[in-house]
Amino acid sequence: MKRADVPKGANLCEYCTGKCCRYFALPIETPETWEDFDHIRWYMMHGRVSLFVEEETWYLVVHADCKHLMDDGRCGTYVTRPGICRAYTTDECEFEDDACYEKYFESPEQIWEYAEAVLPPRPREPTTGLPVLASV
Ligand code: SF4
Ligand code: SF4
Repeated sequence: MKRADVPKGANLCEYCTGKCCRYFALPIETPETWEDFDHIRWYMMHGRVSLFVEEETWYLVVHADCKHLMDDGRCGTYVTRPGICRAYTTDECEFEDDACYEKYFESPEQIWEYAEAVLPPRPREPTTGLPVLASV
């Protein structure tokens, strides 16, 4: 369903599956070295984690349902919900799946490929000649 199809005056959230309650995103330092990207690769090995870049800021996204999200999509702790939930509005929320990021990564392999494209070659172990950070 599109925003425009929601009846006038209706609460948008009543037509949603609680999308904004199913993840959180935190800004992280912009990765600049192989070690930085290796850390991000490790984050992403934990499963339901992705990354996006918007206006040159990198964000780590953890896809996890809030424990208070009820089966019908309503908030189970509405009266005592955190301030971040109170401040959030439907004005520019993700009701429609039309979000588009400057960059979006869904797997450790993707972030490693990106690092290989933008960084100089990895340093090599002098004795073995192998890259210092193991490839995925
Ligand atoms: S604020 Fe937007 S994304 Fe969150 S539940 Fe309401 S309609 Fe869905
Ligand atoms: S506290 Fe309520 S509004 Fe906030 S994320 Fe959890 S279910 Fe959603």
